[in-house]
Amino acid sequence: MNRKRVPAPALAVAGQSPLTALSGVGPAVALKLAERGLATLQDLWLHLPRSYEDRTHITPLAQLRSGMAAQVEGQVVAVERGFRGRPVLKVAIEDDTGGPLVLRFFHFRAAQVAQFAHGVRVRAFGTARPGPTGLEIVHPSYRVLTVGEDPALGQTLDPVYPLVEGVGPATIRKLVGQALDRLPPEEQLDLVPPQWLAQLGLPSLRQALLTVHRPHAAADLAALAAGRHPAIARLAIEELLAHHLSLRRQRIALQRQQAPALAGQGDGVARLLAQLPFVLTAAQQRVFAQIRADLAKPQPMLRLVQGDVGSGKTVVAALAAMLAVEAGYQVALAAPTELLAEQHLANLRGWLEPLGITVCWLAGKVTGKARAASLAAIADGSAQVVVGTHALMQDAVVFHDLALAIVDEQHRFGVHQRLALRDKGARPGSVPHQLVMTATPIPRTLAMSEYADLDVSAIDELPPGRTPVQTVVLSNERRQELIERIRSACAQGRQAYWVCTLIEENDELEASAAESIHSALAASLPELRVALVHGRMKAADKQAAMAAFKAGQTQLLVATTVIEVGVDVPNASLMVIENAERLGLAQLHQLRGRVGRGSTASSCVLLYQGPLSMMAKERLATMRQTNDGFVIAEKDLELRGPGELLGTRQTGVAMFRIADLARDAHLLPAVHALAERLLAEHPALADRVISRWIGSAVRYAAA
Ligand code: ADP
Ligand code: MG
Repeated sequence: MNRKRVPAPALAVAGQSPLTALSGVGPAVALKLAERGLATLQDLWLHLPRSYEDRTHITPLAQLRSGMAAQVEGQVVAVERGFRGRPVLKVAIEDDTGGPLVLRFFHFRAAQVAQFAHGVRVRAFGTARPGPTGLEIVHPSYRVLTVGEDPALGQTLDPVYPLVEGVGPATIRKLVGQALDRLPPEEQLDLVPPQWLAQLGLPSLRQALLTVHRPHAAADLAALAAGRHPAIARLAIEELLAHHLSLRRQRIALQRQQAPALAGQGDGVARLLAQLPFVLTAAQQRVFAQIRADLAKPQPMLRLVQGDVGSGKTVVAALAAMLAVEAGYQVALAAPTELLAEQHLANLRGWLEPLGITVCWLAGKVTGKARAASLAAIADGSAQVVVGTHALMQDAVVFHDLALAIVDEQHRFGVHQRLALRDKGARPGSVPHQLVMTATPIPRTLAMSEYADLDVSAIDELPPGRTPVQTVVLSNERRQELIERIRSACAQGRQAYWVCTLIEENDELEASAAESIHSALAASLPELRVALVHGRMKAADKQAAMAAFKAGQTQLLVATTVIEVGVDVPNASLMVIENAERLGLAQLHQLRGRVGRGSTASSCVLLYQGPLSMMAKERLATMRQTNDGFVIAEKDLELRGPGELLGTRQTGVAMFRIADLARDAHLLPAVHALAERLLAEHPALADRVISRWIGSAVRYAAA
C-alpha cells in the first residue's frame, strides 16, 4: 500500500512558481511576502482585495458627497500653504459643475507645492470629508495634467489589497497584477471540470480570479464585499472541496488500520444496565448501539458523541468501557478539568467497581507514591479503566493494552493531546478505538465539513422529567431583588449557584473576586449556609465543598467557572451568572446546564453590567430565547466564527483562505456532491485539488 502518487510534471498544479520569478521581487521583498504566507504565484492569486476604488469615471464636483470615495478632476483656483501646529498645504479646485473642493496635504515637498499653479488641471482620487470651508479630500492620490492631457479612464475597478508589512500597497498591487498576467488559460487552470461548476452557476477559476481582482465597473460590489458573489463562491467551493477530499483520504487511511475487535461475549453490559437507577433514554440506547457495532469491528472507531448538557453521555461512555474491559483490554477516559474528571471517577467507580472492575485515577495532583502506584497499575494492566486529566497524556504514562480512548469535552483539548492518548494504545499496525464526547454541539455546518472524518452520534433527548430552564436577563442594579429571590428559593428547600466570572483567565483574581462575593452574600443572607469553590482551593477542600452542596448541607454555592462542566446537583434549581455579558454563548450554555437537572422548574439569571455591546446583547437575547444547544451553537458560529469555536488554533483546522463556514455553509451539499463525482470519475484530479489548496501542510485533525 505504499504506492506514491507523484504527479507527472505536465499535471503539476499551476501557480507554484516562487515569487522571485516576478520583476521587483528580490530576496528582501520575498521574505516580507513570505512572512504573510505569500510565497507562490498562486498565493498572490488568492490574496483577495479588501475593497476597490472606482477610477472608471469622473465624478462631477456638484455630485460629490461626504463619505464618497471618488475620482474628480478640476482646475486649481487657490493654493494656501500654512502652518497650524504642523505644515499644511491646501489646494482648492473647481470644475464646471461646482467646487471648490479642497485637497489637503500634511506631508508635502516644495516641488509639490510648485506643481499646483493657478489654473492647472488636477485629477485626484480620495474620500470626501467635510472640512471647515466645505468638502475636502485629505491626501488624495492625484496627478497634475499637462495642457490638453486626458488620461484614459480605468476599464476595471482598482483593487485595494490587505496591507503586507514592509511592502508598500503600490508594490503589492503591481505584483498581484503581474501574477494575474501569468494566469494560465482556463483549460490548464481548472481542475474540477468547468461544466460541473457551470451547472452550479459558477465561472471558471480563471474568470473567477479576474473578476475578483479586476471587477468591471458594473460588478456587484456589495456581493463581492460580502463574499456572496459567484466569483468568490467559485474559489470557496474549490477550497472546501479540497478540505473535504483531504479528510476523506485520511479517513480511508485510518480505516486501513487495525484495532482490537471488542465484541463483548459476557453479560457485563446487561449487569451494568441492571444496576443503574434509571433506564437509558431511546437516544442513549441508539448511540450505544452504534458504538457497540463500531467496537465489534477490527477497524478503529472514531466517533464523536454530541449530546447537550445533561443528556447523559457519561453512562454511554461507561457502557463502551465495559465492552473493552470484558474483551480484556484497558480503557482511558480523559476530561479537561480536574473537577469533571473527579466526577467521572466517582460515577465510573459507582457503576463499575460493584461489577469487579478496577477504576484508577491519574491527575496532575496525584504525586509521589500514589502516582507511582497508578502508573504501575496502568503499566501492568491491573488498572482496567483509567480516569484522569491531561496527566494521562504524559510520556510517563504507559498502558499495558489500551483499546479504547475516551475524551470528554474534546474541544477543550488540543488535537495533539487526543493523538498523544491514542498513541498510547498503538501497536504495530493497530490503534485503539476513539470515542470523543462533547456537550458543545458542533453546528451541523461544521460537523459536515470539519468532521467529515468522524462518525457523529447525537444524544438528542434529555432524560425524562426535566423541565426547561427559564432564563432571565437582569441588570446589576437589580441585584438586591435577586438576593431576595435566592432567600425565598432556599427557604423552599431549593439550592442555588452564584457564578462569578472574570474577563481575564486569571485564577487568582477570579478566586479573590469569588471570595469577596462570597462574604457579601453570606452577610446579606445570614440564615443560609453559603459555600465557596474556586480553582485555587486545595483539591480536598473543593471536593468537600462540592460534596456538602450535593448532600444539601449548603444551600448557596458561590463558584467560579470551574463548575462549568460536569457538576451535577439535581436539587439546585437557580443559577445566577454574574457579568454574563463577558462570557461566550458556549460557556453560558454550559453553565446554565448545571440547573434544570431535577424535576423542579429551574431558572437562570444572567446578571449584567451595562452598557452592553451589540454582540453581548445578541448573546444574552439568544440565551433568553432558547435552551437548544444546537441553535446556540449555530448562533455562536455566526457571532464568533469557526476558528474560535473549535479552539482550532492549535489544530490547523478551519484555516480557510477564502471560505467562511458561516457564510458558505449553503455550498457544502454541492461540495459533497462534487467530491463524490470527482473521486468516481477523476480520482487523480482529487489529489491535485488537495495539493493546490492544502499542499503538504500537515493536518492533524483527522488522524
Ligand atoms: P452529560 O451528557 O452532560 O455529561 P451526564 O452524563 O453527566 O450528562 O448525565 C447527567 C445526569 O443525568 C447524571 O446525573 C446522570 O446520572 C443522569 N442520567 C443519565 N442518563 C439518564 C437517564 N436515562 N435517565 C435519568 N437520568 C439519567
Ligand atoms: Mg458530561
